[in-house]
Amino acid sequence: AVTASEPTTTQVRLRPEIAALPAYRQGRPAPADGFKLSSNENPWPPVDGVAQAIAAAALEVNRYPDATALVLRERLAERYGVSPDGVLVGAGSVSLLAQFILAACAPGDEVVYSWRSFEAYPGLVTVAGATSVQVPNRADHGHDLDAMADAITDRTRVVIVCSPNNPTGVPVTAAEFERFMERVPADRLVLLDEAYAEFVRDDASVDGSTLIGRYPNLVVLRTFSKAYGLAGVRVGYAIGPVPILDAARSTAIPLGVTAVATAGAIAALEDANEAELLRRVDVLADRREALREALIAQGWEIPAAQGNFVWLPTGDRTVEVAERLFEAGVVARAFPGDGIRVSVGEEESVEVLLSVLEGLV
Ligand code: PMP
Repeated sequence: AVTASEPTTTQVRLRPEIAALPAYRQGRPAPADGFKLSSNENPWPPVDGVAQAIAAAALEVNRYPDATALVLRERLAERYGVSPDGVLVGAGSVSLLAQFILAACAPGDEVVYSWRSFEAYPGLVTVAGATSVQVPNRADHGHDLDAMADAITDRTRVVIVCSPNNPTGVPVTAAEFERFMERVPADRLVLLDEAYAEFVRDDASVDGSTLIGRYPNLVVLRTFSKAYGLAGVRVGYAIGPVPILDAARSTAIPLGVTAVATAGAIAALEDANEAELLRRVDVLADRREALREALIAQGWEIPAAQGNFVWLPTGDRTVEVAERLFEAGVVARAFPGDGIRVSVGEEESVEVLLSVLEGLV
């Protein structure tokens, strides 16, 4: 048996702001027969064609991957009408967010984003040595883009727009976004984080794919983690001006995107596989609408929901409501004092959710 214990103190000088960072939170595991609705994951395992491509790639993992993910970039480039150099692939879009922030920000520079939004943003900004400028969401839980434009200073290097916003679900409209882009100086980078783009059904919402080539300072970020069900292999992509992507390429840790991940993503884009994946997305979008309407009928105030999740503004009762859900087998993401984000998952989870929440309005 090993008897030595690891040291619990150190004299090594670590960056104090890093030591103070909370670790990235993942939901607790769901109880047996329960539902894990805390990470906005796709409830289905991969379609056969994708699973087979991943298994085949696994047989060659003694070799390093293609560092540039060229084949996947070519497929995506064709789809978005850009050159392969106009696509950057990363180890999940969270890695790409970090790469862009590192590419644009020096210590002391500012990154503006709405709050509450994706929990990873503050940590990524701090790691880059930059400063977060958080602009409160509007009363309807959406971005206040006018206030975000007002918050831009000489030190601002990046503005992150998350649509639909995680965790509140509210999208930015195309009109709002265009007005906003007119106000942002062209030498500041705008990251449009569209991790949930494929679930959007509201035609007024911004669609980054229609904006490509229109703004010299706009990068659109998407992922295979949600609609394409590949959260576990880590692959996302960015589309934008080549010099900005080149800079972000330089801030990546080399070889972060595995061949297993790109094989899965390439297979997911093949016609037959993608047709089934997008059919599942439709099912989830319909399920989201039904869940939101049922919750509103119960008396809950649910903001516009365009991702694969809904937001319950539970305020001071957040911990209590999350606990009641957990007792019923549902793990949701609680933001104490604020609200609860519940992913749209398995069909059977909807009934459980509704029966618990009915008594808690
Ligand atoms: N952006 C947003 C808004 C997200 O919610 C997530 C995942 N929770 C990500 C980016 C990162 O996704 P991934 O790294 O899996 O691509």
